[in-house]
Amino acid sequence: MKSAASPLKSPVHRLSKTTYGFALALVASVVSVNVHSQTFYPAPASETPESWFASGQAELQRALQRTQNTRRAKNIILFVGDGMGISTVTAARIFAGQLQGSAGEENFLSFEQFPAVALSKTYNTNQQTSDSAGTATAIMAGIKTRAGVIGVNQHADRANCQSSLGTEVPSLMQQAAERGLATGFVTTTRVTHATPAATYAHSPERDWENDSALPEEALQHGCKDIAQQLIEFSYGNGINVALGGGIEQFLPESKTDPVTGGSGLRKDERDLTLEWTDRYNNSAFIWNKEQLGAVNVDNTQHLLGLFSRSQMDYAYDRNTDSTQPDLPSMTETAIRLLQAQSGDSGFFLMVEAGRIDHAHHAGNAFRALDDTRELSDAVLAAIELTNEQDTLIIVTADHSHSLTIGGYSTRGNPILGAVVGNNNHGHANEQRSVARDSLPYTTLGYRDGPGFAVNAGGDVRYTIPGAPGRHDLSDVDPTHPDFHQEALVPLQSEGHAGEDVAIYARGPWSHLFHSTHEQHFIYHVMRHAYGW
Ligand SMILES: [Mg+2]
Ligand SMILES: [Zn+2]
Repeated sequence: MKSAASPLKSPVHRLSKTTYGFALALVASVVSVNVHSQTFYPAPASETPESWFASGQAELQRALQRTQNTRRAKNIILFVGDGMGISTVTAARIFAGQLQGSAGEENFLSFEQFPAVALSKTYNTNQQTSDSAGTATAIMAGIKTRAGVIGVNQHADRANCQSSLGTEVPSLMQQAAERGLATGFVTTTRVTHATPAATYAHSPERDWENDSALPEEALQHGCKDIAQQLIEFSYGNGINVALGGGIEQFLPESKTDPVTGGSGLRKDERDLTLEWTDRYNNSAFIWNKEQLGAVNVDNTQHLLGLFSRSQMDYAYDRNTDSTQPDLPSMTETAIRLLQAQSGDSGFFLMVEAGRIDHAHHAGNAFRALDDTRELSDAVLAAIELTNEQDTLIIVTADHSHSLTIGGYSTRGNPILGAVVGNNNHGHANEQRSVARDSLPYTTLGYRDGPGFAVNAGGDVRYTIPGAPGRHDLSDVDPTHPDFHQEALVPLQSEGHAGEDVAIYARGPWSHLFHSTHEQHFIYHVMRHAYGW
């Protein structure tokens, strides 16, 4: 976590100080801010009774003019916001709108006005509230399966190699490669983490990311670690682009990584980054954003980029000195490379904003919303680089989180702030609302998790996890990036939530997302859109 003196990231720098002065002051200096002063982001001056009616009419016309695109999809780009439940999307749109100086509720993220929106039921075959491995397998391979397993069906027991033999299910990316399409993925997690792993690997245990993680039983029965499976992906022309974090999974203990100088984790003495460049002609292995910016997509057929030792940083923590690229840059390079290398055959790309989930687990809504904002920017890059006529873009989440939005905050109240409600005449109060315990409370909260952090003289720290009762937020700035929202049930890690998530889509066959769907339906739409 950053200290209060952390360098600001670019989106904050872009803001107008006149409209964002209050929040900027909060971000820049916890110590000097008076948390009792309340500032609201203004609603657009253009909002009038007439403008509401006209915008409703305009939306009706757009709906009436919708047509179905039943052409074959040449390309499919699947975006996954890990843990990006509907409350996260709503809060992130307000957050992003307020970063632009407006009230925020009226804002839309880039994918929210896609013409097709549906709901996805996310349970695993053995779990009411799902995990990312089973759900990624549902999306990528067309069947629901157990929590914790990658690319194998429900007959495999988790972490039991022998039981998984013969239960492997082919992923969409594998089939795309076999059919001559260019393929790849981008993530902000380790490239061996559950969501990206489901595009190329088969394992009864998501945690078997390198060989040192495999138990004796797994080695005896021939199960392979996930990093090895990435490098040895043998379908079609192989994987064309893989960008993310997790270099430690690819290097032996005897070698140090070029990113941090830390040792690799592998016990088999294999350097999989070397194997990548040995395996393919016209291939490259890169580890910083300058190298990414210098990639010649016309003569690089296979690009592996590992930009961090483990997970990549949150968007907010990737300051200007960071050697890590941002998600929109990785997405743009991946699309340009796939376009250059696929010719007329088309491509498949999966892009994951993988750390929305991790920020939620930490009970830190700020970073979850900011990484969702970054995902929105990555989708925008994809929109600008592709044609709606031939490219199906899907944006979805694997599962939700227990984030809630409530408290009757007035319009334009800072989304991360304490609740300030309206008076009896519907106008904003001067003071924070208080609960029946006379304590203020925030708009955002979690059902469970580690609790919250106090800003005491600029020192940001957790309270004792599980400390009974609510905490006095009277002198706490909840918009601080390191604030951890209150949670009802004290858990070490905030947990996933089990309600449906959304599917947003545009392009060929996107209209097939029209209802409440089982999550694995997404795969079947993608396959149909390709015309397979
Ligand atoms: Mg993930
Ligand atoms: Zn999670």
